[in-house]
Amino acid sequence: MNAGGDSTVDDARRRVAELRELIERYNRRYYMLDDPEVPDAEYDQRMRELEELELRFPELAAADSPTRRVGGAPAAAFAAVRHRVPMLSLENAFSDQEVLDFDRRVRERFPRHSAVRYSAEPKLDGLAVSATYEDGAFVRAATRGDGETGEDITQNLRTIRSLPLRLRAADVPRVLEVRGEVFMPTAGFERFNREAAARGEKTFVNPRNAAAGSLRQLDPRVSARRPLEMFVYGVGYVENGNLPDSQGALLAALRRWGFNVSPEVRTVESIDGCLAYFRRIGEERRRLAYQIDGVVYKVDDLAMQRELGAVSRAPRWAIAHKFPAEEALTTVRGVEFQVGRTGALTPVARLAPVHVGGVTVSNATLHNFDELLRKDVRIGDTVVVRRAGDVIPEVVSVVPERRPAHAEPVALPAVCPVCGSPVVRDADQAAARCSGGRSCPAQRKEEIKHFASRRAMDIQGLGDKLIEQLVDAGLVRTPADVFALRFETLSELARMGEKSARNLLAAIETAKSTTFARFLNALGIRDVGEATAAALARHFGTLQNLRRAGEAELLEVVDVGPVVAANVAAYFRDPVNAAVVDQLLAAGVRWPPGRAEARGGKLSGRTFVLTGTLDGRTRDEAAAAIAALGGKVSGSVSKKTDYVVAGKDPGSKLDKAVGLGVAVLDERAFERLLAE
Ligand code: NAD
Repeated sequence: MNAGGDSTVDDARRRVAELRELIERYNRRYYMLDDPEVPDAEYDQRMRELEELELRFPELAAADSPTRRVGGAPAAAFAAVRHRVPMLSLENAFSDQEVLDFDRRVRERFPRHSAVRYSAEPKLDGLAVSATYEDGAFVRAATRGDGETGEDITQNLRTIRSLPLRLRAADVPRVLEVRGEVFMPTAGFERFNREAAARGEKTFVNPRNAAAGSLRQLDPRVSARRPLEMFVYGVGYVENGNLPDSQGALLAALRRWGFNVSPEVRTVESIDGCLAYFRRIGEERRRLAYQIDGVVYKVDDLAMQRELGAVSRAPRWAIAHKFPAEEALTTVRGVEFQVGRTGALTPVARLAPVHVGGVTVSNATLHNFDELLRKDVRIGDTVVVRRAGDVIPEVVSVVPERRPAHAEPVALPAVCPVCGSPVVRDADQAAARCSGGRSCPAQRKEEIKHFASRRAMDIQGLGDKLIEQLVDAGLVRTPADVFALRFETLSELARMGEKSARNLLAAIETAKSTTFARFLNALGIRDVGEATAAALARHFGTLQNLRRAGEAELLEVVDVGPVVAANVAAYFRDPVNAAVVDQLLAAGVRWPPGRAEARGGKLSGRTFVLTGTLDGRTRDEAAAAIAALGGKVSGSVSKKTDYVVAGKDPGSKLDKAVGLGVAVLDERAFERLLAE
């Protein structure tokens, strides 16, 4: 320890300089090049660290620190536009507590108010722009730039159809500068990236950068071809005109004047209303057509806003409440290959544990070996990991700037890591496969798991762990062996009591009675999923007919192409498979015609849960429509739920569905499913 504590100040000074340099670099990549180097969470962390150091050591504060500035300098290629009212950023809150602190600061300023009314608005993840109208005509648009000066993007903004070029209402101020967010809806973003990738062109990492990159084009014709939209959320400069006295009324006026305003905006009576709004939007965000990264709360009363004013880079009357980050940085400790049902090898990155999307993640998929090569992931690399909603975490990209000298490329194993059989690669397929077939325990396990699964033979109680145990003990080698299991063997397995053994045997017995389509799906023929299995069952009617069919005949089935036809024919030609099928039949597996009919509806086997109210049907009518197609309606959401139909004002079931990764249908999607 240093007596004077100077070394602490010196350490802080060094760190502050380091952080400023780093943040400047991130800003340049993000604001100027629309190509961020690191995820936002990483940036936010660095920014927080810098803010805290500047607060603890006021002597290190500086007017030009990134903590006091907005955005990045405007690019010289565009004409500069000086904002008559500065365009600021927003303060961030990452927890309820930080939101409550914000409300407390506001109320301290207005002691007469026991609660403050707020406008709660989705925080669109796009690019802030200002658009000026004179005598009702659109004359100029600018990016936020550094808050003081932006880039002239008048011609580019003209190409956005949702922006009115003329305002006709009588009460529009003579000069009106509106502010809003230009964004690229998710579907448009995905399409754009797909097409760009197909042309071998650069893709954007997220819709925010896509919107910014598309709008900041020197050639407005390029902007015109990009699927951009704009929502307006406020007003900057006004001349000769009166504005309403609250944010809510202001948005209503903007809507009336012809602007697009987010339909999700709500006025709430207190900060509790803000937090409730935050939770509801958080549940619904994946159903929105565009991406949001949080919610903005604004003091609704514009006079109060004026009185609160702003600090250097953000107003005191608003705050952005951010959702937990879905992307984070971590390092790759290793890459292992998992073997699937058809032998496909899936590379899985073992990661230094990292908190992302609300959970700790230490494994992330790399999908297949080609994908791994394309992303050039090496052991030791720092990577961006993404976990959005309930999908499996994946490695998005490598941060090349952080590749250590010893980073080790990953090789495709020559032999299966489980059974040692040679690994083969089909020339035209991304996947590499273990050639071991059923002799590979990993493939055997996956085959049985699929066979027993709910959409296949639906053997209740035969879960993944038990299947692994049975295969490892050599008790089950093929699906047919499941039906030969005996009470004596089962009851002696570790963790299996007599009662569970008896229940399992009963479930196996029940499962013998199935439908032809489920049986075909259960066989796990390569590329034959549920839909194809159903098509084959419908076309051939009996197993005999199907087994006899040649490729030409198979090709007559709707949706069956040459690859599937070849796979099906090859499956039944294979003597081992043929034996398994015969054993299954001999064991008593059958599909009674009555049952096939009862389960034959296109929603058969599907469980639905309804929440909220639909415009077009009552709850009972919706349930009847589902039942008429063979589906089931259940009262609560579980992992076994196939769909949650969410109408207006959905309840906690929606929350649960999102948490479990159950598919959520809005009314339109539900009607489409019924009508399909
Ligand atoms: P911000 O995105 O945190 O918040 C301010 C912006 O929110 C406004 O300018 C406006 O564009 C937008 N906004 C959306 N909906 C709004 C609404 N309803 N009302 C008002 N404003 C609304 O601000 P910022 O200053 O542009 O950027 C800072 C953030 O950008 C950081 O928190 C960081 O996450 C990210 N960033 C990342 C990197 C990186 O390298 N990854 C670099 C720089 C910045």
